[in-house]
Amino acid sequence: MTQHHQFEAVIVGAGGAGLMAALHAARSAKVAVISKLYPTRSHTGTAQGGIAAALANMEEDHWEWHMYDTVKGGDYLVDQDAAEILAREAIEAVIELEHMGLPFDRTPDGRIEQRRFGGHTAEHGKRPVMRACKSADRTGHMILQTLFQNCVKQQVTFFDEYFVADLILEDNVCRGVVAMDIASGEMHVFHAKAVMLATGGFGRMFKVTSNAHSLTGDPVAAAYRRGVPLEDMEFFQFHPTGIYRMGILLSEAARGEGGVFINGQGERFMERYAPTMKDLASRDVCSRCIYLEVKAGRGIGGKDYVYLDIRPETINRYKSAPGGRTVTAHELETKLPDIIEMMRIYQGVEPMREPVPIQPTAHYAMGGIPTDSSGRVRANEGPGFVTGLFAAGESACVSVHGANRLGTNSLVDLVVFGRRGGRAMARFCQQAAFAPLPADPQAAVVAELERIRANTGQEKAGALRAEMQAIMMDNVSVFRDAGLISAAQAKVRELKERFAHVQIDDKGRRFNTDLLEAFELGCLLDLADVTASSALARTESRGAHSREDYPQRDDANWLKHTFAFAGQPSGAGLAMGEVRLAYRPVVVTKFEPKERVY
Ligand SMILES: Cc1cc2nc3c(=O)[nH]c(=O)nc-3n(C[C@H](O)[C@H](O)[C@H](O)COP(=O)(O)OP(=O)(O)OC[C@H]3O[C@@H](n4cnc5c(N)ncnc54)[C@H](O)[C@@H]3O)c2cc1C
Repeated sequence: MTQHHQFEAVIVGAGGAGLMAALHAARSAKVAVISKLYPTRSHTGTAQGGIAAALANMEEDHWEWHMYDTVKGGDYLVDQDAAEILAREAIEAVIELEHMGLPFDRTPDGRIEQRRFGGHTAEHGKRPVMRACKSADRTGHMILQTLFQNCVKQQVTFFDEYFVADLILEDNVCRGVVAMDIASGEMHVFHAKAVMLATGGFGRMFKVTSNAHSLTGDPVAAAYRRGVPLEDMEFFQFHPTGIYRMGILLSEAARGEGGVFINGQGERFMERYAPTMKDLASRDVCSRCIYLEVKAGRGIGGKDYVYLDIRPETINRYKSAPGGRTVTAHELETKLPDIIEMMRIYQGVEPMREPVPIQPTAHYAMGGIPTDSSGRVRANEGPGFVTGLFAAGESACVSVHGANRLGTNSLVDLVVFGRRGGRAMARFCQQAAFAPLPADPQAAVVAELERIRANTGQEKAGALRAEMQAIMMDNVSVFRDAGLISAAQAKVRELKERFAHVQIDDKGRRFNTDLLEAFELGCLLDLADVTASSALARTESRGAHSREDYPQRDDANWLKHTFAFAGQPSGAGLAMGEVRLAYRPVVVTKFEPKERVY
């Protein structure tokens, strides 16, 4: 039996973006938030380092400097009209969070305390600036709890542990979503005037990642399968400091407080590559430098990792703390409690006495569902929009991060564009009627889930997933070339064929995570195909997309966004065939593209 619901606005995802949108949409519309996780388990809760806003509480700062850093950090692929909104509205959005009760760290005189972060500078690149607002290294946790409590107060309706598997989208009008109640296995159709996708990233396509197990991009794949384009999917950020082999994140805040990278020869190698910003150069730059050091045989013991060193004696020797201050172990423990704990627990390292082995880890999708600055989803590379469909947060591409996101700019993206998207949905709901539902909107998803449940093929989802993650990690990560990417694309397409023969062990209905994990794998395979296809076509190096066969940035030919569309279904199930690519110009307002020097 399928259950039916009607809400004016349905928001898929209860992370920072979804909850911020819900708070603002709920001021005038009847809103439901659907989440496959209990809301406070969303990945936003793991964000550590901070949220950027040019509050200038510690030293001189301006929103224009923040905008400039964002554009430069994104290697000029950023739409500058959107970056201006991000940098300007960051300030009031952070104050709004403060007024909701978020417990930010404070300066002695009671203002929000700020710290340094990679790529954030004063006077257009002259020196690092303290711009990241924070609650120790648990900033995302505090944001998520604060927003959730405010949503409860505002009586937003939540559907917790409901898995959205399809969009109801016909004739370019979004009419709702189809979801499964994970506990019962029952299908639910949500009829809506406006739908927002705020479903986070999809880093689980890579083997070493900072991303939670849930970050599989299912609703992004659902939109793609329904004809919505995906923008700039070749740009996936590798964060330089993942715990070696595990990928668990150690926030850039460690370097903001003075931590440095050290190679196998005991050298602080970032001084060579980025003389001004050093260890606080942007993430794409640091990750590439680590790979180059490893390739030159200067990894630790000649192996494929380097050290992150946050020992007070090292920081004090290099005078790498803000202002060249002397730091103590006690101060670091207060400012970085969680990540120091993680180093101890997961690595068995005592970071006050030993350096910590790290390697780049798949961290953030710059690409996603294309939107304008009100969260409206673009229907194509031209001026068209999908009526009634919105997106925000990591699953969206506004694009404020361009080819590489700066640290602390995601949390601000969530609140600035979540809020704008929520308000735009509310306005839309006031003037729009409910578009009629097609007959049996759940049919395609039910058929796919039943196909997987009943399949008697020989393939196992876990094995296919491991093969996908390995090839994407080896061939489509920090450095790429045509040979590597083509091999990955061919492999992903082979895996899609084999996915048609996946057999699961649990044939039941209740809490069938076996079934849902197989379904998620199908989604990841489509997104991996789009990532590889978009990367193969872009014959230049820019931001996180670094081609060894095309090492230069090529503004004459490539100062443009990729839009990827699904071809016809490839056979069994919902998996899509060939990817079709189109391009859209980048919006340049204030800053002409220049060579990036850190
Ligand atoms: C370890 C870590 C640390 C980070 N630290 C920082 C930082 O310090 N500063 C910063 O700016 N950024 C940081 N980031 C990035 C930032 O946290 C994320 O980009 C951001 O939190 C994403 O928020 P979101 O609202 O888009 O999605 P998420 O918080 O990921 O939430 C996604 C939501 O979508 C729901 N969902 C997904 N699929 C489905 C489905 N099929 N059906 C129903 N619901 C679904 C989930 O249940 C969840 O509620 C960090 C990221 C990681 C992984």
